[in-house]
Amino acid sequence: MAKDAYYVPGMPEDVNSDHIVKAEGLEGKVRALAIRTTATCEKARQIHDTTPAATAALGRFMTGSLLIASNMKGDTDTQTTLLKGDGPLGGITCVCDFGNKVRAYPINAKIETKYHKPGKIDVGSAVGNGMLTIIRDIGLKEPYVGSVELISGEIAEDFAYYLAKSEQTKSIVALGVLLEKGIVTQAGGLMIQLLPNADDKTIDYLEQRASGFPDITFLLGEGFSPAQIIDLFLGDPEAIYLEADPVSFSCPCSKEKMSTGLITLGREELNNLAQDPKGIDTECHFCGSKYHFTKEDIEELIKSI
Ligand code: ZN
Repeated sequence: MAKDAYYVPGMPEDVNSDHIVKAEGLEGKVRALAIRTTATCEKARQIHDTTPAATAALGRFMTGSLLIASNMKGDTDTQTTLLKGDGPLGGITCVCDFGNKVRAYPINAKIETKYHKPGKIDVGSAVGNGMLTIIRDIGLKEPYVGSVELISGEIAEDFAYYLAKSEQTKSIVALGVLLEKGIVTQAGGLMIQLLPNADDKTIDYLEQRASGFPDITFLLGEGFSPAQIIDLFLGDPEAIYLEADPVSFSCPCSKEKMSTGLITLGREELNNLAQDPKGIDTECHFCGSKYHFTKEDIEELIKSI
Protein backbone atom coordinates (compact mmCIF):
# COMPACT_ATOMS: atom_id res chain seq x y z
CA MET A 1 0.00 0.00 0.00
CA ALA A 2 1.38 3.41 -0.92
CA LYS A 3 2.43 5.36 2.14
CA ASP A 4 1.20 8.63 0.67
CA ALA A 5 -2.37 7.40 0.40
CA TYR A 6 -2.51 7.19 4.18
CA TYR A 7 -0.60 10.32 5.08
CA VAL A 8 -2.47 12.21 7.78
CA PRO A 9 -1.38 15.65 9.03
CA GLY A 10 0.38 15.27 12.39
CA MET A 11 1.25 11.62 11.83
CA PRO A 12 4.22 10.57 13.99
CA GLU A 13 7.37 9.80 12.06
CA ASP A 14 7.33 6.27 13.40
CA VAL A 15 4.01 5.06 12.08
CA ASN A 16 4.25 2.08 14.44
CA SER A 17 4.20 4.30 17.54
CA ASP A 18 0.96 4.87 19.47
CA HIS A 19 -1.26 7.44 17.80
CA ILE A 20 -4.85 8.40 17.07
CA VAL A 21 -6.30 9.31 13.68
CA LYS A 22 -9.50 11.28 13.10
CA ALA A 23 -11.44 11.16 9.86
CA GLU A 24 -14.80 12.00 8.35
CA GLY A 25 -16.50 9.93 5.74
CA LEU A 26 -19.68 8.71 4.01
CA GLU A 27 -20.45 12.19 2.66
CA GLY A 28 -19.73 13.83 6.02
CA LYS A 29 -22.28 11.65 7.82
CA VAL A 30 -19.85 9.86 10.14
CA ARG A 31 -16.83 10.68 12.24
CA ALA A 32 -14.26 7.90 12.51
CA LEU A 33 -11.44 7.55 15.02
CA ALA A 34 -8.88 4.79 15.25
CA ILE A 35 -6.12 4.47 17.80
CA ARG A 36 -3.13 2.31 18.55
CA THR A 37 -2.31 2.06 22.28
CA THR A 38 0.08 -0.91 22.40
CA ALA A 39 2.99 0.84 24.16
CA THR A 40 0.60 2.85 26.36
CA CYS A 41 -1.16 -0.31 27.61
CA GLU A 42 2.10 -2.20 28.07
CA LYS A 43 3.47 0.68 30.16
CA ALA A 44 0.35 0.56 32.36
CA ARG A 45 0.79 -3.20 32.74
CA GLN A 46 4.39 -2.77 33.85
CA ILE A 47 3.57 0.00 36.32
CA HIS A 48 0.69 -1.87 37.96
CA ASP A 49 2.02 -5.40 37.40
CA THR A 50 -1.45 -6.54 36.38
CA THR A 51 -2.56 -10.12 35.73
CA PRO A 52 -3.96 -10.75 32.19
CA ALA A 53 -7.63 -10.08 33.05
CA ALA A 54 -6.70 -6.80 34.77
CA THR A 55 -4.37 -5.85 31.89
CA ALA A 56 -7.14 -6.42 29.35
CA ALA A 57 -9.69 -4.41 31.36
CA LEU A 58 -7.23 -1.58 32.08
CA GLY A 59 -6.05 -1.44 28.45
CA ARG A 60 -9.55 -1.45 26.98
CA PHE A 61 -10.68 1.18 29.47
CA MET A 62 -7.74 3.51 28.76
CA THR A 63 -8.20 3.05 24.99
CA GLY A 64 -11.94 3.79 25.11
CA SER A 65 -11.35 6.77 27.42
CA LEU A 66 -8.79 8.21 24.97
CA LEU A 67 -11.21 7.83 22.04
CA ILE A 68 -13.92 9.71 23.95
CA ALA A 69 -11.49 12.37 25.25
CA SER A 70 -10.07 13.07 21.82
CA ASN A 71 -12.43 15.95 21.12
CA MET A 72 -11.09 18.04 24.02
CA LYS A 73 -9.98 21.43 22.73
CA GLY A 74 -8.33 23.38 25.54
CA ASP A 75 -4.88 22.55 26.85
CA THR A 76 -6.16 22.47 30.44
CA ASP A 77 -9.17 20.27 29.60
CA THR A 78 -9.31 16.97 31.39
CA GLN A 79 -11.55 13.92 31.44
CA THR A 80 -11.85 11.43 34.27
CA THR A 81 -13.47 8.08 33.53
CA LEU A 82 -14.50 5.84 36.39
CA LEU A 83 -15.40 2.20 36.13
CA LYS A 84 -16.94 0.69 39.22
CA GLY A 85 -18.07 -2.91 39.35
CA ASP A 86 -18.88 -5.64 41.86
CA GLY A 87 -16.51 -8.14 40.15
CA PRO A 88 -13.03 -8.97 41.47
CA LEU A 89 -11.39 -6.07 39.59
CA GLY A 90 -13.32 -3.54 41.70
CA GLY A 91 -12.90 -0.78 39.17
CA ILE A 92 -10.56 1.53 37.29
CA THR A 93 -9.81 5.24 37.55
CA CYS A 94 -8.53 6.82 34.33
CA VAL A 95 -7.60 10.42 33.57
CA CYS A 96 -7.04 11.81 30.06
CA ASP A 97 -5.33 15.16 29.68
CA PHE A 98 -5.27 17.30 26.55
CA GLY A 99 -2.87 15.91 23.96
CA ASN A 100 -3.98 12.27 24.28
CA LYS A 101 -2.10 11.77 27.54
CA VAL A 102 -3.57 9.07 29.72
CA ARG A 103 -2.98 7.59 33.16
CA ALA A 104 -4.98 4.96 35.01
CA TYR A 105 -4.97 2.42 37.81
CA PRO A 106 -7.14 -0.56 38.69
CA ILE A 107 -8.44 -1.18 42.22
CA ASN A 108 -7.26 -4.81 42.17
CA ALA A 109 -4.35 -5.61 39.85
CA LYS A 110 -3.91 -9.26 40.82
CA ILE A 111 -7.19 -10.87 39.84
CA GLU A 112 -7.68 -14.36 38.47
CA THR A 113 -8.00 -14.57 34.67
CA LYS A 114 -10.97 -16.42 33.16
CA TYR A 115 -11.53 -17.00 29.46
CA HIS A 116 -14.65 -17.02 27.24
CA LYS A 117 -12.66 -19.33 24.98
CA PRO A 118 -8.91 -19.81 24.46
CA GLY A 119 -7.32 -16.41 23.91
CA LYS A 120 -10.53 -14.46 24.72
CA ILE A 121 -10.24 -13.04 28.21
CA ASP A 122 -13.51 -12.76 30.10
CA VAL A 123 -13.35 -9.08 31.07
CA GLY A 124 -17.10 -8.87 31.81
CA SER A 125 -16.97 -11.19 34.82
CA ALA A 126 -13.82 -9.48 36.12
CA VAL A 127 -15.69 -6.14 36.08
CA GLY A 128 -19.15 -7.38 37.14
CA ASN A 129 -22.23 -5.19 37.44
CA GLY A 130 -21.73 -1.52 38.09
CA MET A 131 -21.45 1.95 36.65
CA LEU A 132 -19.45 3.91 34.09
CA THR A 133 -19.04 7.58 34.92
CA ILE A 134 -17.37 10.25 32.81
CA ILE A 135 -16.43 13.64 34.24
CA ARG A 136 -15.38 16.20 31.65
CA ASP A 137 -13.77 19.39 32.88
CA ILE A 138 -13.44 21.74 29.95
CA GLY A 139 -13.05 24.95 31.92
CA LEU A 140 -16.75 25.66 32.44
CA LYS A 141 -18.04 26.60 35.90
CA GLU A 142 -19.10 23.03 36.62
CA PRO A 143 -17.64 19.88 35.08
CA TYR A 144 -20.00 17.79 32.97
CA VAL A 145 -20.80 14.48 34.66
CA GLY A 146 -22.54 11.57 32.91
CA SER A 147 -23.14 8.11 34.28
CA VAL A 148 -24.68 4.86 33.01
CA GLU A 149 -25.09 1.34 34.31
CA LEU A 150 -22.74 -1.18 32.73
CA ILE A 151 -24.44 -3.43 30.22
CA SER A 152 -21.80 -6.14 29.93
CA GLY A 153 -18.61 -5.01 31.66
CA GLU A 154 -16.75 -5.89 28.43
CA ILE A 155 -16.09 -2.12 28.20
CA ALA A 156 -16.44 -1.37 24.44
CA GLU A 157 -20.21 -1.80 24.48
CA ASP A 158 -20.40 0.03 27.79
CA PHE A 159 -18.75 3.07 26.21
CA ALA A 160 -21.11 2.82 23.19
CA TYR A 161 -24.08 2.66 25.55
CA TYR A 162 -22.75 5.66 27.48
CA LEU A 163 -22.46 7.72 24.27
CA ALA A 164 -25.99 6.79 23.17
CA LYS A 165 -27.57 7.45 26.59
CA SER A 166 -25.56 10.31 27.94
CA GLU A 167 -24.46 12.19 24.84
CA GLN A 168 -27.21 11.07 22.40
CA THR A 169 -24.56 9.97 19.89
CA LYS A 170 -25.03 6.62 18.18
CA SER A 171 -21.61 5.02 17.98
CA ILE A 172 -19.83 1.82 17.16
CA VAL A 173 -16.96 1.18 19.58
CA ALA A 174 -14.45 -1.66 19.23
CA LEU A 175 -11.57 -2.08 21.67
CA GLY A 176 -8.91 -4.75 21.91
CA VAL A 177 -5.88 -5.72 23.95
CA LEU A 178 -3.91 -8.76 22.83
CA LEU A 179 -1.52 -10.45 25.24
CA GLU A 180 1.24 -12.94 24.73
CA LYS A 181 2.67 -14.52 27.87
CA GLY A 182 1.00 -11.74 29.83
CA ILE A 183 2.68 -8.95 27.82
CA VAL A 184 0.67 -6.52 25.65
CA THR A 185 1.59 -7.18 22.01
CA GLN A 186 -1.23 -5.22 20.33
CA ALA A 187 -3.81 -2.77 21.64
CA GLY A 188 -6.11 -0.29 20.02
CA GLY A 189 -9.62 0.77 19.18
CA LEU A 190 -12.04 2.10 16.61
CA MET A 191 -14.95 4.48 17.16
CA ILE A 192 -17.45 5.37 14.46
CA GLN A 193 -19.96 8.09 15.34
CA LEU A 194 -23.04 9.12 13.43
CA LEU A 195 -23.21 12.83 12.76
CA PRO A 196 -26.61 14.56 12.95
CA ASN A 197 -27.16 14.38 9.17
CA ALA A 198 -26.80 10.57 9.05
CA ASP A 199 -29.84 8.67 7.78
CA ASP A 200 -31.13 5.08 8.01
CA LYS A 201 -29.13 4.16 4.92
CA THR A 202 -25.92 5.20 6.69
CA ILE A 203 -26.90 3.15 9.76
CA ASP A 204 -27.65 0.05 7.63
CA TYR A 205 -24.36 0.44 5.81
CA LEU A 206 -22.37 0.75 9.06
CA GLU A 207 -24.11 -2.27 10.59
CA GLN A 208 -23.17 -4.27 7.50
CA ARG A 209 -19.55 -3.16 7.75
CA ALA A 210 -19.43 -3.92 11.48
CA SER A 211 -20.71 -7.47 11.16
CA GLY A 212 -17.76 -9.76 10.72
CA PHE A 213 -15.22 -6.93 10.90
CA PRO A 214 -11.94 -8.41 12.21
CA ASP A 215 -10.64 -7.70 15.72
CA ILE A 216 -8.66 -4.45 15.89
CA THR A 217 -5.70 -6.29 17.44
CA PHE A 218 -5.69 -8.76 14.54
CA LEU A 219 -5.51 -5.88 12.05
CA LEU A 220 -2.77 -4.10 14.02
CA GLY A 221 -0.85 -7.38 14.12
CA GLU A 222 -1.20 -7.66 10.34
CA GLY A 223 0.47 -4.26 10.01
CA PHE A 224 -2.58 -2.05 9.47
CA SER A 225 -2.12 1.48 10.81
CA PRO A 226 -5.04 3.32 12.50
CA ALA A 227 -5.69 5.26 9.25
CA GLN A 228 -5.78 2.03 7.28
CA ILE A 229 -8.21 0.49 9.78
CA ILE A 230 -10.56 3.45 9.26
CA ASP A 231 -10.23 2.99 5.50
CA LEU A 232 -10.99 -0.71 5.78
CA PHE A 233 -14.04 -0.10 7.94
CA LEU A 234 -15.59 2.77 6.00
CA GLY A 235 -14.75 1.47 2.54
CA ASP A 236 -15.01 5.08 1.42
CA PRO A 237 -12.29 6.34 -0.95
CA GLU A 238 -13.56 9.90 -0.39
CA ALA A 239 -13.02 9.82 3.40
CA ILE A 240 -11.10 12.81 4.70
CA TYR A 241 -8.29 12.15 7.17
CA LEU A 242 -8.31 15.21 9.39
CA GLU A 243 -5.44 14.75 11.83
CA ALA A 244 -3.17 12.32 13.63
CA ASP A 245 -1.72 12.81 17.10
CA PRO A 246 0.65 10.85 19.31
CA VAL A 247 -0.77 9.01 22.33
CA SER A 248 1.11 8.26 25.56
CA PHE A 249 0.87 7.10 29.15
CA SER A 250 1.83 10.20 31.07
CA CYS A 251 1.46 11.25 34.70
CA PRO A 252 1.98 14.88 35.74
CA CYS A 253 2.54 14.05 39.43
CA SER A 254 5.29 15.77 41.44
CA LYS A 255 6.37 16.13 45.06
CA GLU A 256 4.69 19.53 45.08
CA LYS A 257 1.34 18.08 43.92
CA MET A 258 1.69 15.29 46.47
CA SER A 259 2.15 17.89 49.24
CA THR A 260 -1.11 19.57 48.20
CA GLY A 261 -2.75 16.19 48.78
CA LEU A 262 -1.06 15.81 52.17
CA ILE A 263 -2.28 19.25 53.26
CA THR A 264 -5.88 18.11 52.71
CA LEU A 265 -5.33 15.56 55.49
CA GLY A 266 -5.50 18.46 57.96
CA ARG A 267 -3.33 19.70 60.78
CA GLU A 268 -4.10 16.91 63.25
CA GLU A 269 -3.25 14.06 60.88
CA LEU A 270 -0.09 15.85 59.71
CA ASN A 271 0.97 16.33 63.34
CA ASN A 272 0.65 12.56 63.77
CA LEU A 273 2.73 11.94 60.65
CA ALA A 274 5.37 14.41 61.85
CA GLN A 275 5.99 12.21 64.91
CA ASP A 276 7.94 9.70 62.83
CA PRO A 277 11.62 10.77 62.72
CA LYS A 278 12.07 8.79 59.47
CA GLY A 279 9.43 10.86 57.69
CA ILE A 280 6.89 9.25 55.35
CA ASP A 281 6.86 7.67 51.90
CA THR A 282 4.03 8.45 49.52
CA GLU A 283 3.28 6.80 46.20
CA CYS A 284 1.31 8.05 43.18
CA HIS A 285 -1.62 5.67 42.47
CA PHE A 286 -1.39 6.31 38.74
CA CYS A 287 2.28 5.86 37.94
CA GLY A 288 3.87 4.40 41.07
CA SER A 289 6.34 7.30 41.53
CA LYS A 290 7.49 7.51 45.13
CA TYR A 291 7.98 10.75 47.02
CA HIS A 292 9.68 10.91 50.40
CA PHE A 293 8.72 13.57 52.93
CA THR A 294 11.11 14.11 55.84
CA LYS A 295 9.86 15.05 59.29
CA GLU A 296 10.98 18.62 58.46
CA ASP A 297 9.04 18.61 55.16
CA ILE A 298 5.87 17.72 57.05
CA GLU A 299 6.48 20.38 59.70
CA GLU A 300 6.82 22.93 56.87
CA LEU A 301 3.48 21.77 55.44
CA ILE A 302 1.82 22.18 58.85
CA LYS A 303 3.16 25.76 59.05
CA SER A 304 1.71 26.51 55.59
CA ILE A 305 -1.88 25.60 56.60
ZN1 ZN B 1 2.14 9.85 39.01
